[in-house]
Amino acid sequence: MNSNIKLIFEKGNEHPIRNYIPKMDVESVEINEILPINLQRKDLPLPDIAEVEIVRHYLKLSQKNYGIDTGIYPLGSCTMKYNPKINEVIVRLPGFSRIHPLQEDKQGALELIFQLSKMLEEITGMHGFTFQPAAGAQGELTGLLIIKKYFEGHGLKKDKIIIPDSSHGTNPASAKMAGFSIIELKSNKEGEIPLDHLEFAMQEGDVAGIMLTNPNTLGLFERQITEITRIVHEKEGLCYYDGANLNPMLGICRPGDMGFDIVHLNLHKTFATPHGGGGPGSGPVGVKQELVAYLPEPCIVSKDNFFSFRDYSEKSIGRMKCFWGNFGVLVKAHAYINALGAEGLRRAGQSAVLNANYLRILLKEKYYLPYDRMCQHEFVLSDKNLPNEITTEDIAKRILDYGLHAPTIYFPLIVSGAMMIEPTETESKASLDKFVEVLIKIHEEAENNPEIVKNAPLNTLVKRLDAVLAARKPILHD
Ligand SMILES: *Cc1c(COP(=O)(O)O)cnc(C)c1O
Repeated sequence: MNSNIKLIFEKGNEHPIRNYIPKMDVESVEINEILPINLQRKDLPLPDIAEVEIVRHYLKLSQKNYGIDTGIYPLGSCTMKYNPKINEVIVRLPGFSRIHPLQEDKQGALELIFQLSKMLEEITGMHGFTFQPAAGAQGELTGLLIIKKYFEGHGLKKDKIIIPDSSHGTNPASAKMAGFSIIELKSNKEGEIPLDHLEFAMQEGDVAGIMLTNPNTLGLFERQITEITRIVHEKEGLCYYDGANLNPMLGICRPGDMGFDIVHLNLHKTFATPHGGGGPGSGPVGVKQELVAYLPEPCIVSKDNFFSFRDYSEKSIGRMKCFWGNFGVLVKAHAYINALGAEGLRRAGQSAVLNANYLRILLKEKYYLPYDRMCQHEFVLSDKNLPNEITTEDIAKRILDYGLHAPTIYFPLIVSGAMMIEPTETESKASLDKFVEVLIKIHEEAENNPEIVKNAPLNTLVKRLDAVLAARKPILHD
């Protein structure tokens, strides 16, 4: 670790500049009267450090970080787009930020959640939503528990679920947690589900349905999607749509119209909360009419413009999280959807697709593109054919030297040495051109000066880590 990262406690007394804060001149309480002497600390070694030093310390630390406010963040599958600051201002309004979930009068908050539900129903073609899940993966678990309870209620033993190998990694994990066993479907050369394999898998009576990520992790739209839902429904299965990556579809098409019964969204991707910030997030789950009774309680209902909770539904799977989910994330999503409107959302989706295809066309000149067709909001390159045995990791590390963030690497697993690039709709053409220029330059280096790429990063504070050692024996400061 670099020695210029210091903890604030180590900085104390380095340059003892006295603080300018004046001594208290109000009468102080006699401390012994309120705190017994045996509970009092004799000594508290706080650093003797001036305000200006503290400000500089934390500002410097923030500058060592990289975020979407610094530059492009093409981390595929994460939709690291720029989210307008106005949404952060709105969620901080005291009416939203100081409300308590148990307070009596919360009509405004309930109305906001109710309205957001209506908007997402319109966007996805569903008939009811729950906002309890705190993340996409928890939304998946919620949806799968609904599927499970639905079949149990119908006296059917269906404990298998079909998941294509192009689905997001959380899908099989959630299915397993919900008690399903998994039938994996291998995707074909086009990166899509072979319908004959699906039909074959659906022959078994104990298959509960399919869990589909669309666009899949290759960034490709399943062109036979309505056929897929038809085949599954024909055998009394249910269709689950992983809509964490809804960006390219906004205002264009809806999972409900494609025949899906359940969908989860990631508000912390598509709707104004950044993904990957360590939370909080929100993974609302939407269902068709037949499944509304299975949604977790409480569900908000409206009568004569008064908002309350529906009567407890025997079919409900119960609670997934305390209170009403991560309310702040819902406020931001509500503000974002309202600000953009139907036309704005459609433009956001179209720009996400346009930006990804722009990069795809320019980069496939130098980098191998395993699935060479029109992509959605992201696409996958690989390190096949790179000169001098340069790997995906080398490329990703060298990108850091040019002051940019690397794409997602080694995911999806079905492409060896994958680089999954998602520029998002909020990058300008100039920013995309700069990203291409850097990647082409690195390709030239890979040909002519491979050592520099193999040893990258050379300009960053932390150099290339021994990934194995770093995981086993992390050194968190010097
Ligand atoms: C991000 C993502 C998830 C998981 O969402 P989390 O909020 O990280 O749990 C699931 N599916 C897809 C397609 C995703 O991109």
